Amino acid sequence: MILAGHQIAACALAAIVALWLLHSCWTHAHPRIALILWQITGLTLVVSTIGMLLGFGLAPYRRGLVPALLDLPGRLHELDTWHLVAVAAGLLLAGWLLVNQLLCLLSTARARARHRLLLQLVASPGGDALVVDHPVAVAYCLPGRNPRIVVSAGARRLLTDAELGAVLAHERAHARERHHLVVAPFQALRRLVPGSTVLTRVCAAIELLVEMCADDRAAHQHGREPLASALERFHANGFGGTPAGALAVADTPVLARIRRLRRPDRIGLPLAGMMAYALAISALVTSASLFAVPL
Ligand SMILES: [Zn+2]
Repeated sequence: MILAGHQIAACALAAIVALWLLHSCWTHAHPRIALILWQITGLTLVVSTIGMLLGFGLAPYRRGLVPALLDLPGRLHELDTWHLVAVAAGLLLAGWLLVNQLLCLLSTARARARHRLLLQLVASPGGDALVVDHPVAVAYCLPGRNPRIVVSAGARRLLTDAELGAVLAHERAHARERHHLVVAPFQALRRLVPGSTVLTRVCAAIELLVEMCADDRAAHQHGREPLASALERFHANGFGGTPAGALAVADTPVLARIRRLRRPDRIGLPLAGMMAYALAISALVTSASLFAVPL
């Protein structure tokens, strides 16, 4: 039961950090740090929830979770019904989450492969991006092992050279920093529980932070104003949407990003942020190490 108790504490701690992150203002001033904190917190919540169930179910063995799981086939008769139900729930949850993540990765990879094929047919090279001859203004990054930056003829007409340069830098930042891998686990969780308001809000917050990271990279190379005015033009023109599996320049709350680019917050990382970092890391280490250490 001590193992389950530690996992409950780690899970509660991660939930508090997640709720605090959802309601914090400093995250927009430090999107990279906030994203790492979200990843640690999300992983802790998953690991500790599974650990909680297995910790309770395998408590009679009085061993670490992994050694106890290895003992399970030969010592199944030592567990009563409640402990068996908890072990089964823990294993099913772990399997369910793993299969869901794999299925989401596969379906996204398939959508991207289809889109890549389509681009071969309709797009033509234009500098370091592919140009689609379409009047609607769009720009997006199709991530993967060979990422593609795509811009429409409408976007090239809409934007000045400086704005287009900033937009392409934004898309290149998505590809280089592999932002699709940051958002994918959270999007998979949202698909698993589609009605969850909290997960929808978490995904929206993470997608916005990813956009802000790419904005910062583009602003560093081209200045803040060209990207801000490009986003403004996209917004005024009505953004043309994003294909499945792609990361676009302007499909998240654009006005907040324009405001941030023009009036950047100069908030330092608050003390509470550093404490949350330390707490989240210790919760994850505690939760994960309980799988190996003996009781
Ligand atoms: Zn973007």
